[in-house]
Amino acid sequence: MRPFVYEQPTDIPAAVAIASRFTTNDDQPTRANAQFIAGGTNLADYMKLGVAEPNRLLDLNRLKESGLRQVRVTDDGIRFGALVRMGEAADHREVKERYPVIADSLRLAASGQIRNMASLAGNILQRTRCEYFRETSWACNKRVPGSGCAAMEGFNRQHAVLGGSDACIATYHGDLAQALIALDAVVHAEGSRGARRIPFAKLHRPPGDTPHIETDLAADEIITAIEVPALPWGRRSLYLKIRDRESYAFALASAAVALDLDGETVREARIALGGVATVPWRASAAEQSLQGKKLDQTSAEAAADAAFAEAQPRQHNAFKVELGKRTLARALLETRDMKV
Ligand SMILES: Cc1cc2nc3c(=O)[nH]c(=O)nc-3n(C[C@H](O)[C@H](O)[C@H](O)COP(=O)(O)OP(=O)(O)OC[C@H]3O[C@@H](n4cnc5c(N)ncnc54)[C@H](O)[C@@H]3O)c2cc1C
Ligand code: SF4
Repeated sequence: MRPFVYEQPTDIPAAVAIASRFTTNDDQPTRANAQFIAGGTNLADYMKLGVAEPNRLLDLNRLKESGLRQVRVTDDGIRFGALVRMGEAADHREVKERYPVIADSLRLAASGQIRNMASLAGNILQRTRCEYFRETSWACNKRVPGSGCAAMEGFNRQHAVLGGSDACIATYHGDLAQALIALDAVVHAEGSRGARRIPFAKLHRPPGDTPHIETDLAADEIITAIEVPALPWGRRSLYLKIRDRESYAFALASAAVALDLDGETVREARIALGGVATVPWRASAAEQSLQGKKLDQTSAEAAADAAFAEAQPRQHNAFKVELGKRTLARALLETRDMKV
């Protein structure tokens, strides 16, 4: 591991000032000399592997702003401080009651120990688990721009069938992000150019020709909070995750679903897919296909077909198309049948 300087700024302006002194406007957060660390469960891993090589770590855990550690529930929605731990949010009574899809997505992620350590902002910014990205001897456009993509002709069972490009097909593996994109969440960030709100759907960048540009954040921008707008019918929501083993594994396919129903007819559906796409994936075509329809096996399967109409499977991951469809159809019917 490359030696690094470790600093513990005590407020957001101080952290931003240090970050902007050691980074430029063109630096990507994950490639910059100075990088933020929260729980460290993702970044420290990649530093040990030689994938991330910051020479200055700015630990956010001493920041004194109390909102960073709070979950605030108001009539307008829920505001999660960026440093709230995954476990705290998963166990929060009102999160479980008002937005089961958020609580489920956290409860089904990682292990108890990791959930106690890992922050919400760190979770949504976690980097891909693509094996060729993690092992530095392989060609990887995300790690070394222009070097090629070993996954295209390699073992690509874990890789994405939606949102890929000729340069990269790495899956976005996080779970919480699927709930947040389905619920139209907004991310609050502060950097040297001021504070701003980023719609969650704009936070992650699809790989295109530049897979090394992973988010819309600047290197000196700190996520301070995640806001989920009030959604009275959010109580009818769930997260279904299918994986190789029943605990402590990333999704092969998952679905975040929230439904506004009039009897069994869909007034509005919110749907996102995990484990199958390069970025958190809102399934808008599936949502539209359900609007005004009775939700039954036939319409659920039609929505799932619409969700995967643009899928581009590779040699080893074609099973994800069928698995993803079945996961979504089952999630829709289970959400319909929830007693709320
Ligand atoms: C064995 C294992 C299994 C896992 N399984 C799952 C799973 O099933 N589902 C799932 O969703 N996740 C899973 N994870 C990932 C885990 O949830 C993440 O590692 C964790 O959420 C990252 O949070 P952190 O606070 O530790 O982030 P860190 O490692 O501290 O940071 C991650 C990234 O976010 C940046 N960052 C952190 N906070 C901020 C901020 N406030 N502003 C700007 N940038 C910031 C850092 O610079 C870094 O680039 C697993 C991890 C492991 C090791
Ligand atoms: S899929 Fe993306 S992350 Fe994986 S090797 Fe290819 S370029 Fe790298």
